[in-house]
Amino acid sequence: MQSQAIKTVEFERPQMELGSSCTSHAWARVPETPTPQQKTELKERIKRLLKEQQAVLVAHYYVDADLQDLAEETGGCVSDSLEMARFGRDHPAKTLVVAGVKFMGETSKILSPHKRVLMPDLDATCSLDLGCPADEFAAFCDAHPDRTVVVYANTSAAVKARADWMVTSSIGLDIVAHLHAQGKKILWAPDKHLGSYIQKQTGADMLLWQGSCLVHDEFKGVELELLRQQHPGAKILVHPESPEAVVTQADVVGSTSQLIAAAQSLDADEFIVATDNGILHKMRMAAPGKRFIDAPTAGNSATCKSCAHCPWMAMNGLRNLAEVLESGSNEIHVDAETSRKAVVCIDRMLDFAAQRKANVRPSSDLAQEQKLFSGIGPA
Ligand code: SF4
Repeated sequence: MQSQAIKTVEFERPQMELGSSCTSHAWARVPETPTPQQKTELKERIKRLLKEQQAVLVAHYYVDADLQDLAEETGGCVSDSLEMARFGRDHPAKTLVVAGVKFMGETSKILSPHKRVLMPDLDATCSLDLGCPADEFAAFCDAHPDRTVVVYANTSAAVKARADWMVTSSIGLDIVAHLHAQGKKILWAPDKHLGSYIQKQTGADMLLWQGSCLVHDEFKGVELELLRQQHPGAKILVHPESPEAVVTQADVVGSTSQLIAAAQSLDADEFIVATDNGILHKMRMAAPGKRFIDAPTAGNSATCKSCAHCPWMAMNGLRNLAEVLESGSNEIHVDAETSRKAVVCIDRMLDFAAQRKANVRPSSDLAQEQKLFSGIGPA
């Protein structure tokens, strides 16, 4: 392994008992950037190894553009975490190489227990996962036994093992609307901004864990207003992990896939984008000729801990990807008991998504959902 720099990472850690949060510290390894010639060699090496090992590369929209391109060139996929989970499960490859963060590798392993799942760096984590330890979460659930437990995908396998439903940002609104229509009260974890957005859209009774994503938490409403004044024709695309002051200025609020689709379909030449800037690579491919501007994380009201790029997503590089394929190291393992429990909430979500796609939703949900979809647009 090459020597790599270590970056200190600060994030907000909820203190549920006190109802507040504190600043916590973590770290991320910064991979060396290969030279153009090294890039070409590494890509060829990875393509050969993927073939030899009957492996497929599954990458998230937030990882490096080279990895995204490589995934598509080699028959893998670049997508949000819902599609990553589905794609890995349904693909015939013997090995899944997940370029993303650890919970994505765990979810792939849970859904494909007989496949080998490798990741470029097993220490690539997520502030939402770090901020929701399984034992504290279990105590929170124990204190509210009357609530249906809904967790976001960005959680450990152990937290999912305690949940009734898992959701991603592309389907969380629909699932909570469905549960609300059934009269269920919800315990939501871990992202407070996404939870609060869904609560407002659905009117559901939701008790929220107070976690946040260190990238989206940094977008600033005041600075976004100033930037909008400089770009009056720009449409504002916002991921709902962002704070309310940012979400309320959005033309479209949605998951990564939904924001890419909006960039393609909306009649505008300029967009201000409030999500990890790794997504801009895909947006530029999907909508060539349009201009994309990062939403501000800097300015008078900012501390800029992330500058709109996840330090853990950035740990995925061409070099460590080639190395894990060669060595077989960095394999994801989830113990059988945790996996057996966690798969229940993941399968529930996938079944719900499949039913929605096939349009066999319970008719009682339709009126409620129509109301919600009209609410996704200018917020
Ligand atoms: S961008 Fe945010 S939510 Fe996504 S992995 Fe990084 S810290 Fe977690």
